[in-house]
Amino acid sequence: MKTIIEPFKIKSVEPIRFTTLEQREKILKDAFYNPFMIHSRDVIIDLLTDSGTSAMSSEQWAGIMRGDEAYAGSQSFFRFERVVKKITGFKHIIPTHQGRAAEKILFSILGGPGKYFPSNTHFDTTRANIEFVGSEAIDLLNEIGLHPEIRADFKGNMDIEALEKFINKVGAENIPLVMLTVTNNSGGGQPVSMENIKETRRICDKYGLKLFLDACRFAENAYFIKKREKGYENKSVLEIAQEMFSYADGCTMSAKKDALVNIGGFLAMNDDELALKCRNVLIVTEGFPTYGGLAGRDLEAIAQGLEEVLEEDYLKYRIRSVEYLGEKLIASGIPILEPPGGHAIYIDAKGFAPQIPPEQYPGQSIVCELYLQGGIRAVEIGSVMFGKYDKDGKLIPAKLELVRLAIPRRVYTQSHIDYVIEVIQEVYQKRDKLRGMKIIEEAPMLRHFTAKFSYVD
Ligand SMILES: *Cc1c(COP(=O)(O)O)cnc(C)c1O
Repeated sequence: MKTIIEPFKIKSVEPIRFTTLEQREKILKDAFYNPFMIHSRDVIIDLLTDSGTSAMSSEQWAGIMRGDEAYAGSQSFFRFERVVKKITGFKHIIPTHQGRAAEKILFSILGGPGKYFPSNTHFDTTRANIEFVGSEAIDLLNEIGLHPEIRADFKGNMDIEALEKFINKVGAENIPLVMLTVTNNSGGGQPVSMENIKETRRICDKYGLKLFLDACRFAENAYFIKKREKGYENKSVLEIAQEMFSYADGCTMSAKKDALVNIGGFLAMNDDELALKCRNVLIVTEGFPTYGGLAGRDLEAIAQGLEEVLEEDYLKYRIRSVEYLGEKLIASGIPILEPPGGHAIYIDAKGFAPQIPPEQYPGQSIVCELYLQGGIRAVEIGSVMFGKYDKDGKLIPAKLELVRLAIPRRVYTQSHIDYVIEVIQEVYQKRDKLRGMKIIEEAPMLRHFTAKFSYVD
């Protein structure tokens, strides 16, 4: 088999500024060892997130020029609505400025104290929006998803038994909706099978519950289904995506992921009454229903991106390029969450730096070292992001301690990724020198964005 090449040519480039180790030592210290506080011009390879970091195509840029900026009834909205309806089949399509705005609208209407929202795994902003309205966000990830070393096809799946047990425990009347995150971002970018979506639907039907998809990476999930699930090998990715959405009552979407744009999102659903309430909140917090929190040009770029993301040459390259990074790390003995996910590789920080206990944030220590040694920016997805405190102020660690290397879409070439591999190998060889860290300042919610760190001793 020949090398799978990038299915695009480069038309416009953005320079990378190189830094020295000495410069990076100072930069990292000034950023209080938190990569979110580093300026992007000081980063060589930016794997902080795949969110809003995609390179747009020439057709998307053309759409930016075509954007109809009418306040009401914009042509760009109708194109956007047409494409989203074609893929999702939902009746009401509500544009928002990003995924969390869709979440905020949805949970501010459906949530409140005493309400529970079960999911395979909630993303951090989803969890925060649920907790912000006084409800509880419940993760019911399939057992296999909790074992980074086990290779399985659909490690993002919901634990169906646990879901039913949970419904019986708290009562269906206290569960406004069930969510499925596809792919499961915080659970390692692992896909959810069609069978699992169907089973979740079956349980929801049994108890009269709504099912919503957190659809940020629906196309990557659909491609995994095509490659891994029996009966889907000859279906188009669009058909698979349509089937996925057909089992749901609605979705939230961050267009910054699988719509290949730098900003945008939407909320979609079938329920007329709920849609009316959502649009009322939308008008107060985002904007008129035909633009939400976006410009007409953004809606054009999203519509075009949603068409491009379903092209199989693109998805083949996308999934393969992430897998390439994963395979090289595995071959060097570096523990990662297996198999490679759709948008990112997750280093298993407990396996990488076993000398650092969870209370000293092994993932954060690795993140800092990757920046120091190679100017690579990654993010901790472990006890910094998801840790909680008990009533005595003692840390309740996250289930997994991971370092995420998220791959922006259509941005880096194979030589960039080869460089990343070399840096990680170098850090791994010197892993005994990695030191534990502590938080010296933090915010009450989503603390990972702004927390300040120092090394312990
Ligand atoms: C990014 C993301 C969100 C939030 O979307 P934003 O556009 O960043 O607000 C929600 N869920 C998942 C799974 C995500 O990856």
